Amino acid sequence: MKGPSPRGLWNYAARRLRLGGYFRAPGDGRAIPQIPAQALLWSILIGCILRQSAFRAIEAWVNSRARRALRVSRVFGDDALRYFTEHLRPEPTRTALASVLHCAKRNKAFEDWHFVGLALDGTTGGGRRKARPDCGLCRPHRNAAREIIGYRHNLVLAAVVGGELTLPVDVEPYGPADSEYAAGQRLLRRVRRNLGARFIDYVVVDGEFATAPFLHAAGEAGWPVVARLKDNLPELFQAAQRRFRSQPPQLCFRDGSDRVELWDAEDFDPWDSLRWETVRVLRYRQQKPEGEIVEAYWLTNLSSPQTSRRCLYAMAKSRWQIENQGFNDAKNRYGLEHLCDHHPQSRLLVWLLTCLALTLERLYRLRYLHRGAHPALNAITLLRLFILTLSAPAFADSS
Ligand SMILES: [Zn+2]
Repeated sequence: MKGPSPRGLWNYAARRLRLGGYFRAPGDGRAIPQIPAQALLWSILIGCILRQSAFRAIEAWVNSRARRALRVSRVFGDDALRYFTEHLRPEPTRTALASVLHCAKRNKAFEDWHFVGLALDGTTGGGRRKARPDCGLCRPHRNAAREIIGYRHNLVLAAVVGGELTLPVDVEPYGPADSEYAAGQRLLRRVRRNLGARFIDYVVVDGEFATAPFLHAAGEAGWPVVARLKDNLPELFQAAQRRFRSQPPQLCFRDGSDRVELWDAEDFDPWDSLRWETVRVLRYRQQKPEGEIVEAYWLTNLSSPQTSRRCLYAMAKSRWQIENQGFNDAKNRYGLEHLCDHHPQSRLLVWLLTCLALTLERLYRLRYLHRGAHPALNAITLLRLFILTLSAPAFADSS
C-alpha cells in the first residue's frame, strides 16, 4: 500500500465508498457552470480535512503548486465557491452521507461493536456581527449586560457512535422561533428515512432532548432512547435520587483505571405527557484514580432483559463521543464555527460537507489505513503526512 495522500483519499472515497457518481453530480444548481462541480466540491472536502475550510484559504491552496496533488483539476477563486454552495442542493450530500455509512457497514467497519448508536446534540455553527434579513436563522447573541453583540446560528448534529468511531451523518438548523428538540425530531425522522431503522440500535441524547415529543418521535422511528436525566424533569429526578441514595450499588466494576458503581431500576412512573408504561433509570458513580467523582442519571425505555446494566452504561457514555469527537473536533479543528458565506443555502451545505469530510477522514484513517497489524494513525499525524505529499517537488500524475 502506498502512503496516505489526498489522492489516495479521493480514490478510497470515489471507488471503495462509491462516491464517484456523487462527486460528478452533487446536486449542482448553477445555471451555466464554468468550473466542474467535482473540482469545487472536492476542494471544500479536502480543504476541511487539511483544516483550511475558509473559502479564501481553499482559493490559495488551489492556486498553489499543491493543486494537482490535491486532485483539483482547475484553478478558481473564493467567489466560485460561494456561488457554487449557494446553488448546491442539500439532498444529494445527505444521501451521500447515508450511502457512505451503509457502505462502511457492508465493509464491516462496525463489526466489533455490540451496538450502533445515534447521538444527537445542539451546537452553534458560527456567526456574524450583523443579521442577514433573508437568513432566517440569525439568533441574537448577548453579552452579560444583555446587549446584542452579534448573531449566531444553531444546529443539531447527528452522529453514528459506538466503538472508537464517531461519524457525523446529518445536521438540522433551527432559528430563533424554533427549538433544539423540535429540530432534533426533524433530524431523527430524516436519518430514519436515509439510514433505515435497522442501522441504529438506540438514540443517545442530553437532558434537553428528554421531552415527551422527542421520546415519542424516537419511538415512532423504532428506536429506544437513552437520555440524560437532569433537574428539567424534577419529579422523576428527585424520585430516582431518593431511591438510589438509600441503596447500595447493584454492580461495581472497573472501566480502565476508574471504579464504577451502578444503580438501576425500571419501575419509575412516567411524567404526565409521556406515553411510556414505566421509565427505567440508571445512575452511575465513577471514581477517577485521582479521587474525582463523576455522577450522572440516565433514563431509558430499554428493558433489562433487552439490555444489561453494563451495556446501558456503555450506551450512556457514548453520548460524550459526540461532544468530544463531534463538536469539539468539528469546531476547533475543522472550522464548523467559521461561517464561509452568510447565505442560507451555502451555510447549510458547508455544515453538511464538514460532516462528510469528517466521516471520510475517520473511515480512511481508522479503517482503510488501519488494516493489518500496525497501529491506527491519529488525526494530526495523517494531516502531517498529507501536507508532506503536497510539498513533494516532482509529482507524477498516475490517474
Ligand atoms: Zn444568519
